[in-house]
Amino acid sequence: MPTRNYDVVVLGTGPAGESAAMNAAKSGKRVAVVEASEQVGGSCTHLGTIPSKALRHAVKEIIVFNTNPMFRDIGEPRWFSFPKVLNRANKVISKQVKGRTEFYARNRIDIYFGRGRFKDANTIEVGTGEQGPETLVADKIVIATGSSPYRPADIDFNHPRIYCSDTILSLNHTPRTMIIYGAGVIGCEYASIFCGLGVRVELINPGKKLLSFLDDEITDALSYHLRDNGVLIRHGETYDKIESTDRGVVMHLKSGKKMRADAFLFCNGRSGNTAELGLENVGIEVNSRGQLAVSDTYQTNVENIYAAGDVIGWPSLASAAYDQGRAVAAHMYNLEGAHFISEVPTGIYTIPEISSIGKTEAELTAEKVPYEVGRAFFKHTARAQITGEAVGMLKILFHRETLELLGIHCFGDQASEIVHIGQAIMKQNGEANSLKYFLNTTFNYPTMAEAYRVAALNGFNRVF
Ligand SMILES: Cc1cc2nc3c(=O)[nH]c(=O)nc-3n(C[C@H](O)[C@H](O)[C@H](O)COP(=O)(O)OP(=O)(O)OC[C@H]3O[C@@H](n4cnc5c(N)ncnc54)[C@H](O)[C@@H]3O)c2cc1C
Repeated sequence: MPTRNYDVVVLGTGPAGESAAMNAAKSGKRVAVVEASEQVGGSCTHLGTIPSKALRHAVKEIIVFNTNPMFRDIGEPRWFSFPKVLNRANKVISKQVKGRTEFYARNRIDIYFGRGRFKDANTIEVGTGEQGPETLVADKIVIATGSSPYRPADIDFNHPRIYCSDTILSLNHTPRTMIIYGAGVIGCEYASIFCGLGVRVELINPGKKLLSFLDDEITDALSYHLRDNGVLIRHGETYDKIESTDRGVVMHLKSGKKMRADAFLFCNGRSGNTAELGLENVGIEVNSRGQLAVSDTYQTNVENIYAAGDVIGWPSLASAAYDQGRAVAAHMYNLEGAHFISEVPTGIYTIPEISSIGKTEAELTAEKVPYEVGRAFFKHTARAQITGEAVGMLKILFHRETLELLGIHCFGDQASEIVHIGQAIMKQNGEANSLKYFLNTTFNYPTMAEAYRVAALNGFNRVF
């Protein structure tokens, strides 16, 4: 096989790899991407963000259908199986793959399917199967190989009733009961999805509370609503052993409790995909979770080798991975947007949805910032009353003297959209970042955006 020369070779076609490749190609560089799986899109498209969000959307529609009194006039509630709902998600994946494949063609980016491996700091060998390895030589190389679910060795993930967040997408029936071990974002999202399908879910959290990085009030609301929807949450528990039989899975906890379920989903941590990259050939080391350290220009300790996305750890979000990938190419070629991505909103697609940006009350209290709180409960807004999506709250934290916005925390329908209005104002410089924007601006009515005006008035009335 001949050697092929490029300006940039990108390993991985998830959001980080795609945006690095596109940005480099748009500035006129010769770019190739290497993808270990059979289609572009990364685990974002095939195993993570897209399937879980499509599943969740379908489940929310089922919940509305089964609980909205208007639909009861035309018939009884219906039962939907997991495979049926998954089928809907797969259609979205196909559309995403088609669109993304076209982006590469349109931008004249060559795609090599196969696992990429460093031979030296400028050379990647791609195992392209029967034709033998392809050799790609480039000035710059980007590692955007993502992450995979952590799978402890003492759990038999080959057992048909034991799943991780990748293999759950091959579940071909609807279990009656499920234990989800790990109550991070992925565990909480899947707890919402399965309980929305009528599965009795036990959510086992090794930590003390759910999603402790969120504002306390939001975490409390999530716990309340998950329980209200039927999820049994156990905090501060770790597993001792997992026994699996043909009929189910029994989890023994270190506290002496044991519980049984038809299916077991382990979602406790992820590791960077670095094991087979041949990093030893270029002198790059990884941490205990397989992640790479990068500088604020996304360079590894080898100057021409960059890394972005889940493989570098925090925040491990598709949203940030896109921006990191773009920033990588911007740093390489002095383009606009060459900055380190440090302010990232959280978007958590539980039922109810959660989103936030900025500081929490606990952080502001610890920093002794004199802040005030403005709240708007969705149940009081006309739009939520019309849509029937009355669960939720928007909370604005602001400096009580300068009125500067310090944090936006939201839960309820469309929370991850709503937060961006607050984010836009928070990004303004100087006095433009102020609660006053919401007091002096006319909002469409009825909208969920109007919650900003309600929350701002509520908070402003506390300032004396
Ligand atoms: C269940 C779940 C739900 C999620 N929900 C959200 C969400 O709602 N919002 C959000 O922002 N984020 C979400 N995430 C996180 C998001 O999916 C990741 O942050 C994102 O996919 C990271 O993008 P990436 O480009 O770093 O890697 P990935 O998307 O993982 O892509 C990496 C690609 O590299 C390929 N690869 C690996 N090794 C090699 C190699 N040696 N050679 C060539 N190719 C290789 C892989 O096959 C893969 O295609 C979720 C994750 C999961 C698991």
